[in-house]
Amino acid sequence: MKALYYPAWDQLEIRDVPDPSPRPGEAVLKVLAVGICGSELHGFKIHAPRRTPPLIMGHEFSGQVVAVGPGVSGFRVGDVVAVNSTISCGVCDACTDGDPHVCPTAEVYGTRRPGAFAERVAAPVSTIMPMPENVTPVQASLMEPLGNGVHAWSMIRRRFPETVVIFGAGAIGLFTLQVAKAGGAGRLAVVDVSPARLAVAERLGADRILDARTEDVPAGIRDFTRGRGADAAIDAVGAAGTRDMAVKAIRKGCECVWLGLHDDAATVGGLDIVLGEKAIYGSFAVRPRDLRAALDLLGAGKITLEPWVRTFPLSDGVEVFTQLVNAPPDDYIKAVLLPS
Ligand SMILES: [Zn+2]
Ligand SMILES: [Zn+2]
Repeated sequence: MKALYYPAWDQLEIRDVPDPSPRPGEAVLKVLAVGICGSELHGFKIHAPRRTPPLIMGHEFSGQVVAVGPGVSGFRVGDVVAVNSTISCGVCDACTDGDPHVCPTAEVYGTRRPGAFAERVAAPVSTIMPMPENVTPVQASLMEPLGNGVHAWSMIRRRFPETVVIFGAGAIGLFTLQVAKAGGAGRLAVVDVSPARLAVAERLGADRILDARTEDVPAGIRDFTRGRGADAAIDAVGAAGTRDMAVKAIRKGCECVWLGLHDDAATVGGLDIVLGEKAIYGSFAVRPRDLRAALDLLGAGKITLEPWVRTFPLSDGVEVFTQLVNAPPDDYIKAVLLPS
């Protein structure tokens, strides 16, 4: 089969590799659609040890069952499925507490095991879920990053926050924006450094956009919230500056969620948190229920993928991945490869 293969640091190529065969408890899927994730682009750029070549990356995907291994029940050849990118152990404290996404031995497709930048992939059936008929394969491939937005949003206790500020208008920020709109946010402001991304955020329903390169962001947030501070903030960037701005953006007694993973640094004012009784939640990956909610939102037509998600054949994978790493295009934000 053809795969977008990552043979060594800084190298990518389309290569013929052996077809996977299903081990016990696994299905082999024909990959219908697979998204290129920011974590893969970032990992490729900085030689992240989490994704060490040789490797086939790709963890945001949908597929069709073409073979099942011994001991598989509940799925048959021909089933079209969406996939949870995280493979958890199912028996540890985190898993049995209902938090399989933070299972200490969890593995993500395309890190140590082969991922879905290929025509076929072997998938433990514990990670696959039936795809509703009103959801397309491309939509289903976005279930996981959309689920990240659902997961982050579910941490905000206020059901109908009047003002919400989102830092970052990349794919996760734009999904979170749409989840927040569907989930009860009153008015939304989005902060980014790219006018093109901010224009997309506005098209997707942001009531206010703030360009951090040209505008005074704290002043803009004060104005947007009529001097009160926001009821909730979400940092979908993950840099020290945006983490700090997210904490400062909220008013006393409110919450912010950090889900961006850009780097490790964080500096926040301790007194602001103590005296303001502010809460910071870390949000990572998704619970299965976040994925089901994401599929429901997609099926209900509440998530807009135009004009910012674009599809490409697998054969364009090297060019598309390389462009996203080196010079992100202005005319789309998220790429989805179509191997079959
Ligand atoms: Zn991802
Ligand atoms: Zn576990």
